Amino acid sequence: MFDYVIVGAGSAGCVLAGRLSEDPNVQVLLLEAGPPDTKENVHVPLGYLQLAGTDVDWDYHSAPERECYGRRIPLPRGKVLGGSSSVNAMVYIRGNRRDYDDWGVPGWSSPELLPYFLKAEDNERGASRWHGAGGPLPVSEGRSGNLMSRAFVDAGAQAGLQRNDDFNGDEQDGVGMYQVTQRGGQRASAAVAYLHPAMERENLTVMPYMHVERVLFEATRAVGVQATQLGQAQEFRAEREVILCGGAYNSPQLLMLSGIGPADHLLMREIEVLLDQPAVGANLSDHAATQLVWTTPEPESLLLALEPAALAEYEATQTGPFTSNLAEAGGFARVGEGAPAPDVQFHFAPVHIVDEGMSDPQAHGVWVSPCVLTPHSRGSVRLASSDPTAKPIVRNEFYSAGDDMQRMIAALRLTLDICGQPALRPYCAEPFNTPDGESDDAMRAHVARTTFAVYHPVGTCRMGEGAEAVLDAQLRVNGVEGLRVVDASVMPVVPRGNTNAPTIAIAERAADLIRGRSTELEAAAATANGAPRQAAATPL
Ligand SMILES: Cc1cc2nc3c(=O)[nH]c(=O)nc-3n(C[C@H](O)[C@H](O)[C@H](O)COP(=O)(O)OP(=O)(O)OC[C@H]3O[C@@H](n4cnc5c(N)ncnc54)[C@H](O)[C@@H]3O)c2cc1C
Repeated sequence: MFDYVIVGAGSAGCVLAGRLSEDPNVQVLLLEAGPPDTKENVHVPLGYLQLAGTDVDWDYHSAPERECYGRRIPLPRGKVLGGSSSVNAMVYIRGNRRDYDDWGVPGWSSPELLPYFLKAEDNERGASRWHGAGGPLPVSEGRSGNLMSRAFVDAGAQAGLQRNDDFNGDEQDGVGMYQVTQRGGQRASAAVAYLHPAMERENLTVMPYMHVERVLFEATRAVGVQATQLGQAQEFRAEREVILCGGAYNSPQLLMLSGIGPADHLLMREIEVLLDQPAVGANLSDHAATQLVWTTPEPESLLLALEPAALAEYEATQTGPFTSNLAEAGGFARVGEGAPAPDVQFHFAPVHIVDEGMSDPQAHGVWVSPCVLTPHSRGSVRLASSDPTAKPIVRNEFYSAGDDMQRMIAALRLTLDICGQPALRPYCAEPFNTPDGESDDAMRAHVARTTFAVYHPVGTCRMGEGAEAVLDAQLRVNGVEGLRVVDASVMPVVPRGNTNAPTIAIAERAADLIRGRSTELEAAAATANGAPRQAAATPL
């Protein structure tokens, strides 16, 4: 018998397990479908390139994408302690303050969320107006030292963009090097940050290889979950709450398997309807990105990791290619007319990416990827069958609404401009994967051929008010008792940037909500530490 049963040890689940078990008077159970995070490739940053398609990846693919020649886009998700934070690219970005203010959900505006970003953070630059130090989540400068990543930043400046050495500081616009969730050249997943330090607590039980199949109800109250471990069915009871942290694909899947979702869809899958809730699995938004690849004769790329010297450097000083998070540099720009905040993000990697990163590079090269922020397009997550082990059907519907395609074409042109600047030109020597011409049609064809997801799905169990919300502002599932969702799926709209830090901040605040602690107290504490209550000119 546990007080809290948490489903999924990903970015959010690890935060909750760590925070809730700080109270010795509650018993916390954390169930994870995947294995412990013991693989070396989880911890050596560059190693994550080898994790796609292995036992630590759910290995999902989208349904055929209409605007992308019907391609099925790979959608990796972490299936391991740490979840996607154990397999992600480690870029530390919070988003723009407008993102949270525009959500319009009480308690989740940018000034209300900022204290939780600071509380989570241990930035090696130290505490400041916009940064926390001493929190569980290490944030560091990249240590790869790659010349081509720096050249991207110089080229961005030559193309007229401002330099920005802190995208989470005063302003988000500009080009610069990304800070990463690493410490000492090692990945700092949510498991490393929040779970490992709590593992020895007597009131925390962590069970890997435990696939939760559905939530158990007594009338409309969630009282536990049914799961299987190595083929053996088990049930776990929750005295207080069941908390779903399965991520933006699996949390709506679990709700639907438990009878909460669109009634017609559930009936088609022969699932008994507990609650007709059409919003479950709807409103999927993710960042669509396209990519440009060149080869270069300069022997500067991450292919150097294959040289014995790279391993020696990593072992001696924890620097060099093995510490690369791939997307070492990047930035934010505006291409839409009158955009009130950045509407494009760049990721630059000093590597020749082939086959969407699924095959090893054979040459030196560079990869530049613009993605459209604040997309209008919305997709969905639906059940393929009532079998809990069946992969859900994920429809991104990229470029299906608004000006998403036009903005992507504009972003592509801006990227080509950057790559043509003197600082980067020597590294963009031979086109490998670039548009066939300069016309809109050529650009559109390139977008359709090369689009991939930046792996930032959100919105499928959105919080808020009204019929479109699955959750109330306290993240409780509307219409039932004893059940919350806490993960990236709760975000009504995807923020401008990468989603790991926002998910962690959301889980930090959720832990306070669950413990019934006053969020005002947290805000006051942060103010005392120098963080302003009104985040006037900041990205967050
Ligand atoms: C390849 C990749 C690169 C990325 N790069 C970046 C980046 O550079 N920066 C950034 O900020 N963000 C990045 N992201 C996104 C970021 O990692 C995610 O937004 C974030 O980790 C989501 O956290 P979550 O808690 O919602 O879900 P997850 O971290 O995915 O956690 C869900 C957990 O639930 C478990 N689970 C699911 N279903 C069940 C079940 N039925 N039973 C038991 N357990 C279950 C899963 O195995 C998993 O451990 C990336 C993501 C990917 C996949």
